[in-house]
Amino acid sequence: MPCQSSDELNILVKEAREYTKEGKVANYIPALGRANPHDLSIAIQYPDGQCISAGDIERKISLQSISKVISLALVLMDRGSNYVFERVGMEPTGDPFNSIAKLETLSPAKPLNPMINAGALVVTHMIKGNSIEDRFQRLLSFIREMANDSTIDYCEDVAQSEFKTAYLNRALCYFLKQHHIIEEDVEKLIDLYTKQCAIEMNCLELARIGMIFAMDGVDLESGKQIIPVHISRICKTFMVTCGMYNASGEFAIKIGIPAKSGVSGGIMGAVPGKFGIGIFGPALDEKGNSVAGIKLLELLSRNYKLSMF
Ligand code: GLN
Repeated sequence: MPCQSSDELNILVKEAREYTKEGKVANYIPALGRANPHDLSIAIQYPDGQCISAGDIERKISLQSISKVISLALVLMDRGSNYVFERVGMEPTGDPFNSIAKLETLSPAKPLNPMINAGALVVTHMIKGNSIEDRFQRLLSFIREMANDSTIDYCEDVAQSEFKTAYLNRALCYFLKQHHIIEEDVEKLIDLYTKQCAIEMNCLELARIGMIFAMDGVDLESGKQIIPVHISRICKTFMVTCGMYNASGEFAIKIGIPAKSGVSGGIMGAVPGKFGIGIFGPALDEKGNSVAGIKLLELLSRNYKLSMF
């Protein structure tokens, strides 16, 4: 029986909030360093429109790496899977999300998967459109449609803050450009990528996007198939194998829910056929995942038997 009431969620949030003390907010993107480490909120969105939540749910978070699974869906729709997987692989890395190491040891030098920064930069490079602005607007419209909110936008402060400091991501791009996997101007690509990562929303909207993935790409409220079934399946599989970076194996064993995290402290979950989850808890563990957010998912998964395995 899935969790039915906000009261039940409140109890779990109270227990998990204790763990915020064990983490630190990301500060390598200066604007993210201003988050309150003790925040923790969750929303669960059911396909029939019912939504339950707990914590400070109006607070907005930037998607950061959560955007990687959404841009992947768009690019698979734009280009088809053959084109995409010629340029980015399907295997987990076991390395941190921003690592450059495997690019040099593998031949061809294509990134191992779309959930690490190197792979996500290649995915963003593949978003179709006539200009950076056009490509960004296409991604934004797609996100607005899934979240059912036409006011969603990016946070200029967060985007600027990352743009000014994204030296490692620039290094990844130049490496990939040398190997002809990225063919465009690096500054333009970093501009698009940092805007993508800075798209912000609250955890209710994040849960709604998770629900679209959970329901095989269908928005039951509008009856629309927003993402084709086979693409939604690819995205969920990447969420299981690579969604929590180099903690994905342990997460699959302990929690067993397709999920994608970001360094803002967000986690989007998609419980197949059941509901979407949006979590915000900016205190991170050493691998860059929300420490209390993971605890909260662990409690939820255990109490309501949500593991898909
Ligand atoms: N924008 C961040 C970066 O590229 C996203 C990383 C993350 O959320 N893990 O470093």
